[in-house]
Amino acid sequence: MEAPFDHTGAPNAREVRSKVPIRELSCRNWAFATSKELRMKTSFLITSCLAYFALISCTSAQSGLDVKVQDKAPVRKDKVVKTDSEWQKLLTPLQYKILRNKGTEAAFCGTFYDNHLDGTYLCAGCKLPLFSSKDKFDSGTGWPSFTKPVKEENVWYRSDESHGMNRIEILCARCDGHLGHAFDDGPRPTGWRYCLNSDAMVFLKTKRK
Ligand SMILES: [Zn+2]
Repeated sequence: MEAPFDHTGAPNAREVRSKVPIRELSCRNWAFATSKELRMKTSFLITSCLAYFALISCTSAQSGLDVKVQDKAPVRKDKVVKTDSEWQKLLTPLQYKILRNKGTEAAFCGTFYDNHLDGTYLCAGCKLPLFSSKDKFDSGTGWPSFTKPVKEENVWYRSDESHGMNRIEILCARCDGHLGHAFDDGPRPTGWRYCLNSDAMVFLKTKRK
């Protein structure tokens, strides 16, 4: 018969198993657990790890958007390039201030933050389609907000460290006009919040058939 205590005075495993409730064992050192309990604990840990990594991969796959900050504007065949005075003639003072001088309209004051009509938002400078009403959501910020652009290649991103903040500036890919900023605190499905200035855009209402 196996002695309940070995020469060191420590209880042997069989004695511990027979006298200590399993519930109590779960709070003790793993060394005292039975092989069945070890298998269960290991399996639980593996399942938890797999679930965690599945969640992480889902979260990153959720974005699906390539919001990459660039130093230079993308090259396009249809690029619109104008002088400052040409832009001033073409745009309203507020459009010019926002698009060409990185201005920001006051919150809850723009034309589109509360616009719920179906349609497409075009760049006010070059009329490139930028955002769809389908991707618009109420962010509560007072600026029109979208989860993604109509086409990824229609906007580009630049690092903006002005006003003591570290932000991602959104620009029109055709005329390089300043549109607003992108934040990674948006809702599903992308997790991005495209925060736009109303006067950087014009709205094209969807025609009913
Ligand atoms: Zn444009």
